[in-house]
Amino acid sequence: MTSRNGFWRFATDTSPEGIRESILSHLRLSLARSPDTATTFDWWISTAMMCQDHIVDRFLATYRAQKAEKVKRLYFFSLEYFLGRLLHQNLISLGILEQTKKALIGLGLDIDQIFEEEPQIGLGNGGLGRLAACFLDSLSTLRYPAFGYGLHYEFGLFHQDIINGYQVERPDDWTRFGVPWEIIRPRYSQVIRLYGNIDWNKQKPVWVGGKEILGVPYDYLIPGYNSPVVNVLRLWRSKSTVEFDLEAFNRGGYFEAVAEKNFSESISKVLYPNDKTEIGRELRLIQQYFFVSCSLHDIIRRFLKEHSNLDDFPSKVVIHLNDTHPAIAIAELMRIFLDEHNLSWSKSWELVSQCFAYTNHTLMPEALEKWSVPLFERVLPRHLQIIYEINKQLLDNIPLNIQERDKLIRQVSLIEETQPKLVRMANLAICGSYSINGVSALHSELLKKELFHPFYILYPKKFHNVTNGITPRLWLLASNPRLSNLITEVIGDGWPSDLEQLDALKPYAQDPAFKEKYNLVKQCNKDELSNLLKKKYNFVLDPEAIFDVQIKRIHEYKRQHLNLLHILSLYRRLLDNPNLDIHPRVFLIAGKAAPGYDLAKCIIKAINAVGYKINNDPRVNKKLRVYFVPNYGVWSASKIIPAADVSEQISTAGKEASGTGNMKLALNGALTVGTMDGANIEILEAVGERNIFIFGLRAEEIRKLSTSGYSSRKIYESDPEIKYLLDWLKSGEFSQNEPPSVLYPVVHSLIDGGDPFFVLADFHAYKQTQLEVDQQYKDRQMWISKAILNTASLGWFSSDRSIQQYATNIWDLSPCLPK
Ligand SMILES: *Cc1c(COP(=O)(O)O)cnc(C)c1O
Repeated sequence: MTSRNGFWRFATDTSPEGIRESILSHLRLSLARSPDTATTFDWWISTAMMCQDHIVDRFLATYRAQKAEKVKRLYFFSLEYFLGRLLHQNLISLGILEQTKKALIGLGLDIDQIFEEEPQIGLGNGGLGRLAACFLDSLSTLRYPAFGYGLHYEFGLFHQDIINGYQVERPDDWTRFGVPWEIIRPRYSQVIRLYGNIDWNKQKPVWVGGKEILGVPYDYLIPGYNSPVVNVLRLWRSKSTVEFDLEAFNRGGYFEAVAEKNFSESISKVLYPNDKTEIGRELRLIQQYFFVSCSLHDIIRRFLKEHSNLDDFPSKVVIHLNDTHPAIAIAELMRIFLDEHNLSWSKSWELVSQCFAYTNHTLMPEALEKWSVPLFERVLPRHLQIIYEINKQLLDNIPLNIQERDKLIRQVSLIEETQPKLVRMANLAICGSYSINGVSALHSELLKKELFHPFYILYPKKFHNVTNGITPRLWLLASNPRLSNLITEVIGDGWPSDLEQLDALKPYAQDPAFKEKYNLVKQCNKDELSNLLKKKYNFVLDPEAIFDVQIKRIHEYKRQHLNLLHILSLYRRLLDNPNLDIHPRVFLIAGKAAPGYDLAKCIIKAINAVGYKINNDPRVNKKLRVYFVPNYGVWSASKIIPAADVSEQISTAGKEASGTGNMKLALNGALTVGTMDGANIEILEAVGERNIFIFGLRAEEIRKLSTSGYSSRKIYESDPEIKYLLDWLKSGEFSQNEPPSVLYPVVHSLIDGGDPFFVLADFHAYKQTQLEVDQQYKDRQMWISKAILNTASLGWFSSDRSIQQYATNIWDLSPCLPK
């Protein structure tokens, strides 16, 4: 193993000829196909298998070294991993993209068509799941020993069709044709228990009865960029422990024989499509417990292969909780130490409380997980006892002389004294973790000041901030090859693993030759996206127009309806004044709504209804177009982002914990129109106020306005433009063949609903800023300089920087290189 041409090489042949032979041999020996009958899908599988061969070599070397050195490992627990497609990224990581392109050309194949054959791995809802995927990439790139743990959902996030302007969901059967990346390891299966009761007849309580479920690990190997390290993402799939009840079947009870199997397999059946809300369903709790219990047993098994007892556990194991979803791990590890390893309570708690670190991802109250005590007791009776005991010690240890002690006790208690009582998972996560962090500077401050203030009083030293990041390998190198080549031409090829090198581009913001090339890149990307959307959806995009994009989950706090209101206002002004001097603009909006979130779905309908009207109105459609791009996901993001001029980051201040879409777009040279929220604030600091458009109420002002009594109805009644626009939306002019009432819910939420996200309060500031955007775009040379400065200033937002901060400040982790 050597590092040649700056890339790590293993024994596997990386020449175009060697790669070609490997692809052909997989086609023949693994798929039993010959080149003359092979479909493009067969070629993709063969190419992926070739790629996997290279990854496997490195994985074996990595694991051998980690074991020999008895390294400390990070175990990242997440219910979501939004991986997208892996082939392109994996080839880039291994440094064999160009050779593979050549090999495929030799076979008469186009690599981009091969990429499109790969089913997307959509085991995530949005930002949180995508962050987990970016982190895995950075962990391997920075050579840290790490495992990701999660669930192998049979169905990922639903596929979104748009029919008559409405979102229609279809199941995502992503494994249907097989997944060449996964390695199934039935030998490392785990058996977990659910339901049952506590047997008090022993010397100590024992959890017995109930159901046993089998967890089977499916491994994904995660290579790093130009790194010899390959880490593992281990996803558990649930199976029945009784493969088949032959006895019941022979008695004629066929349905009885399969019922058990059905229940067991339902656990990893489907990803819950909720983003930022909790559903409180039994199956969700079971999903969380199932993957956590399988993972903890797997970790302990690995640890005990390298150590003779559990004393060193916290110095070798750090478990990261990606939001509260896996927080039950704290109670489960206590149970395993107490009941399965016979450690004392104090020893168990000493070990457990040194193992966990927790990241909070949202301040939205509806996202805080709470389980009813009766439900909890039925599903996990032993864990409820343990939680009560943890709670007792937590509350007993609150200093007697502390101010307002009773109130503090009520706030930090793991149990909410409602009817029925509720178990608060966030409180469990905080009290069982040695570190708690938010995901942007503002968010981490608000955690300390508001949501977790009572805990901050008790444990001020536990609180940290790690601002989120994005992997430049996907969000620049793979998705924007034109810009990547231009950057490499000017500053060399070190930037993908050291993104702050982009800083060296800053002087070029004033270099006419560079500016011309940078602008040409953006123009080519816009042409390409226009062609793609024309082909796929028959959208008509003028590549000369400003491409204004808002792509993210549909949610009131993200305020797609503020965007819509501004579009309506532009439409009105264009109708009133056909000669209105604005630069042509295309609004692209994309995102999925949770299937049960009716208002979000109505916002999609409203965008499509207004868009349809505008796009078919010859009076304005040379200057204004509005398109909703269906089925937003990692792939469509990677196509839209390189072509964007304007990035809409317009959440209500204080509501977006960080955002990562904002980073992807700014890195690719889109100028942000944004509120002082989440990481927008840090992007402002990085790019400078002249290179971003900030508007709207600040978090503090929003807080004051909501306590002093905000009346959106008063605004509606007193503001003629707002009144006009909302009445217009209700008028039936946009609802085509349907009754006008189909759009009422959006309007009513802004008036009678009290406008909980302050859309009307920010409307005029937003409109004013959009005028400024239009003005500035007209000075194209200036705009290009600003776009370049955005790219050049975004280096700090690499997920490598986030992971470096976690590793040094929170995980205490060291890199481990194969020898
Ligand atoms: C980055 C990303 C997100 C997060 O976007 P935000 O604008 O930060 O909400 C969601 N979905 C996908 C597919 C992404 O790539």
